[in-house]
Amino acid sequence: MSKFLSNAFAGLVPYTPGEQPQPGQRPVIKLNTNENPYPPAPAVRQLLQQLDEQPAGQLRLYSDPEVTDLRQAVAEFYDLQPEQVFVGNGSDEVLAFAFLAYGKGRRMAFPDITYAFYNVFAALFDVEARLAPLDEDFNIQPVDYLEDAEETVVLANPNAITGKNLPLVALEQILQFHTDSMVIVDEAYVDFGGESAVALLPKYENLLVVQTLSKSRSLAGARVGIALGQPAVIADLNTIKFSFNPYNVNRVSQALAAAAVRDKAYFAKCCQNIMANRQLVTEGLEAQGFQVLPSLANFVLARHQLLDGQQLYQKLKQRDILVRWFDEPRIRDFVRISIGTREDMQQLLAAVAEILQEVR
Ligand SMILES: *Cc1c(COP(=O)(O)O)cnc(C)c1O
Repeated sequence: MSKFLSNAFAGLVPYTPGEQPQPGQRPVIKLNTNENPYPPAPAVRQLLQQLDEQPAGQLRLYSDPEVTDLRQAVAEFYDLQPEQVFVGNGSDEVLAFAFLAYGKGRRMAFPDITYAFYNVFAALFDVEARLAPLDEDFNIQPVDYLEDAEETVVLANPNAITGKNLPLVALEQILQFHTDSMVIVDEAYVDFGGESAVALLPKYENLLVVQTLSKSRSLAGARVGIALGQPAVIADLNTIKFSFNPYNVNRVSQALAAAAVRDKAYFAKCCQNIMANRQLVTEGLEAQGFQVLPSLANFVLARHQLLDGQQLYQKLKQRDILVRWFDEPRIRDFVRISIGTREDMQQLLAAVAEILQEVR
């Protein structure tokens, strides 16, 4: 830290992303950042090959600040109006804008175990945060969010790190209570079997649904996230965006993302494959004595009595398999395993069997 950094940020602890091996390093089975193991839709690859031509190629020009075509594609996908769609540079940016718009000067509530970025945004933007503990089975308890109607709520559903789903009826209870504050639902993982709150948008002006193209549409590197809400709420996010970075989504990513959203069949197939592989790895781990939290996401959180989370993480890493271990109070015993291809899952299960032999 230099002596010039503002005091406001002297104690800021930034988010720690999962390891990203550099090109040229030994190949690993990368199951640590919930990326999609399958390539993006074929139309995305075609566009990339024609990068010098229209529409992706004109990098001399600024990107469309209205993100018109991509918003149209998303609106068509969900049967919404384009005025109900916002696009950000990854959903992390969308969430940051939502924290600014709906958190500054008020309190925000979210679970103790969830996407670690919520805490970081709260600290960065000086938003008061209230952490509500998950119950002992790692479920969100809706009653925890029925305390203060003024408080903004942010929930990942399915929840990050756990993969557990909150039923829409519970979410509706929370939405109905918070008539004067926003409820932000982060649906980064919803396409792997969860129930989207998008269907509730006509009923609730206080609902903001945030999604990402990073996971279910294999575009983590393109950095595209979306928010869906009633037009007035989307206008709020635009106020923040146009006060910060009007060209927040680059020209290439806008084109690639629109192509990915329009290929519904490929998207459905990828998600089905991930769900099938999730089932395979869940059953395989359980057969070896693991506790696996029931997940509707593209990862599972698993623990074994004979190994602590850090040991398992390290032993897998020695075998060139990267998973994620969080050195956090309630989840230290677990590792989070992203769902890869069927072959990835078979190799993981074989490695785990070897490791268990070693420690038995
Ligand atoms: C991955 C993830 C994000 C971030 O997605 P990007 O669009 O890649 O920024 C946001 N929220 C949750 C819960 C996530 O797991």
